Amino acid sequence: MTVPRVVVVGSVNIDLVVTAPVLPRPGETVLGHDFTQVAGGKGANQAIAAGRAGGSTALIGAIGSDAFGVTLRARLAGAGVDTSLLRIRYGASGVALIVVDDGGENSIVVAPGANATLVDLTAPELDAIAAADVLLCQLEVPVETVTAAAVAARAAGTRVVLNSTPVRELPDELLAAVDLLVVNHIEAAGLTNLPVVDVDTGDAPDGAVLVDALLESVPRAVLTRGADGAWYGDRDGVLEHVPAPVVDAVDTTGAGDAFTGALAVAWGEGRDVVDAVRWASAAGAGSVRRLGASVGLPGRQAIDELYA
Ligand code: ADP
Repeated sequence: MTVPRVVVVGSVNIDLVVTAPVLPRPGETVLGHDFTQVAGGKGANQAIAAGRAGGSTALIGAIGSDAFGVTLRARLAGAGVDTSLLRIRYGASGVALIVVDDGGENSIVVAPGANATLVDLTAPELDAIAAADVLLCQLEVPVETVTAAAVAARAAGTRVVLNSTPVRELPDELLAAVDLLVVNHIEAAGLTNLPVVDVDTGDAPDGAVLVDALLESVPRAVLTRGADGAWYGDRDGVLEHVPAPVVDAVDTTGAGDAFTGALAVAWGEGRDVVDAVRWASAAGAGSVRRLGASVGLPGRQAIDELYA
């Protein structure tokens, strides 16, 4: 098996996390417990997840000229992500201020900083996209950049996987370049105009219904639904529910990133796409067994064990 080359175009943030007994109300100061500083942003998380899953991974993103930028580059490189295409922009890195209370509820505010400056892809960046097996994107950097990357990838025969988060409308040009769309049920509802829950029954729409609606816009779609696993569908008529392995969930933050990173690797390896979804589901399940979005990411062996 050859190691697939995955290029991620996406966000890099420093997550500044304080745990506290309760979340502060407006105007209130709360004495917290502990403070940790971890690499975050969906681009960075999915690049690290793809690397842990066995891919050769490079990240096209932007960090600031501040001390956080230095920390972020070191954390990514330490996790095995190729950072040679990471841009350094004068000014602040992306920062997420996160408070987590004793019940696990959180409150988050993100200042995008350098992420907002990731525009106008350069020749070396476009070359890396063209040489990759899979381009993996999310929507925490300017959508014009994601669109340009996807169009370049499609022209070069690189598969395009889009994790469409956060919820926003997608330009037609981007949709036309996507090979595989990955969304959770809230994002799927946002894209299809279907309700998140039915007003009469209080139930979420059936996974198959959501996937079917997504296939009006893209040729292949994956819907993730936490412990219920994932639905996969394509325009060739395949529609399958892939259950998730049963695990003791400790922290579900970042399950989608673990899933998506592993999916890009498995599909890039040339696995059948439904099998790739099954393997990604094992990666998502593996990530929820440990505390911390990036700390809990499972390696290839752990994924294989849950997949078996
Ligand atoms: P997101 O974090 O984007 O909301 P999900 O919560 O749907 O994504 O999780 C992505 C995938 O991770 C799921 O499809 C499933 O395969 C796996 N997963 C998530 N939570 C659990 C869980 N509690 N038990 C087992 N697998 C899980």
